Amino acid sequence: MQDNTLIVKDSADAAESAGWKRQLSRAVRDPAELCRRLNLADAWLPGAEGGHALFETCVPEAFLARIEPGNLADPLLRQVLPLGEETRETSGFVADPLEEAEQRPARGLIHKYHGRVLLIASPTCAVNCRYCFRRHFPYADNAPSRAQWREALGYLRDDDSIREAIFSGGDPLAGSDRQLGWLVGELENIAHLKRLRIHTRLPVVIPDRVDDALLAWLDATWLQTVMVLHINHANEIDQAVIDACTRLQKAGVTLLNQSVLLRGVNDSVSALEALSERLFEARILPYYLHVLDPVAGAAHFDVGDDEARELVDKLRQRLPGFLMPRLVREIPGEPSKTPL
Ligand SMILES: *Cc1c(COP(=O)(O)O)cnc(C)c1O
Ligand code: SF4
Repeated sequence: MQDNTLIVKDSADAAESAGWKRQLSRAVRDPAELCRRLNLADAWLPGAEGGHALFETCVPEAFLARIEPGNLADPLLRQVLPLGEETRETSGFVADPLEEAEQRPARGLIHKYHGRVLLIASPTCAVNCRYCFRRHFPYADNAPSRAQWREALGYLRDDDSIREAIFSGGDPLAGSDRQLGWLVGELENIAHLKRLRIHTRLPVVIPDRVDDALLAWLDATWLQTVMVLHINHANEIDQAVIDACTRLQKAGVTLLNQSVLLRGVNDSVSALEALSERLFEARILPYYLHVLDPVAGAAHFDVGDDEARELVDKLRQRLPGFLMPRLVREIPGEPSKTPL
């Protein structure tokens, strides 16, 4: 009897943990299908194909469901639909705007700022955001195996100024819980580490990612855990996202959000105000509002600095201080993000 119960429970767990992976593998990766599913005019397809050829389309069903069909201006659609504009060259917009290729003391590791180190815990993402500064990033070269992680772990162990490990990517939560749990276990053996931070968009894009297997290692670690989500518009937060956030909070995770200021997505005081309000409904605090990194193919998303400052000044007159994100830019070689 008892054995049977265990078997049933095991397979139920396996099915559940496979749930998000299945959703990811079934994501829409064909721009023509994306347009068809959302009743968008065929006229857009040739342009969309051009963008897609540069950076593959990827939109999981759970995110697609939050997009209004037939509306080319939908703020969620704008983030994921490839466009012909991406093929246009714009001076100042380059392949590696953050010059990260230069900052790697060990495979899978980027150390730019005092006290914290970024680990490329998974090379892939669950959604391909058209404005992403990693759109030209050599992902596949930076997904270390366990043996290769030893070098990065050695680097962390040898530098006792490092207090925080940051899982990044790609999207770190696109990795398996077995691998992530192993890595967290290794980090726990490094006495000077205090915090684990996870930069991820997965709980937003596929809320089922926040399953028992993920919560198990988050709940178990004695490292303080912070999750920095990436949400750009209030419409991204539906009930499933709120429920996923609640599960994370119950596992002791502090939730923050970073956004990118994007033309046609959130470049108005009302959109930014609604975003902060909605974030707090999910008990997430706004952290950063980034101006766009000047990555080739994303110039059409750019909002000028003066306009960005003006938006944030007006936003400040509408929100309590704790719902104000910090407007920042990342400048290669600087010791922190730079406030505007
Ligand atoms: C942005 C970033 C961090 C984190 O910076 P915070 O200001 O602490 O959020 C750390 N390392 C790298 C390489 C980064 O790009
Ligand atoms: S999830 Fe993050 S890293 Fe991945 S494509 Fe989107 S912005 Fe880029």
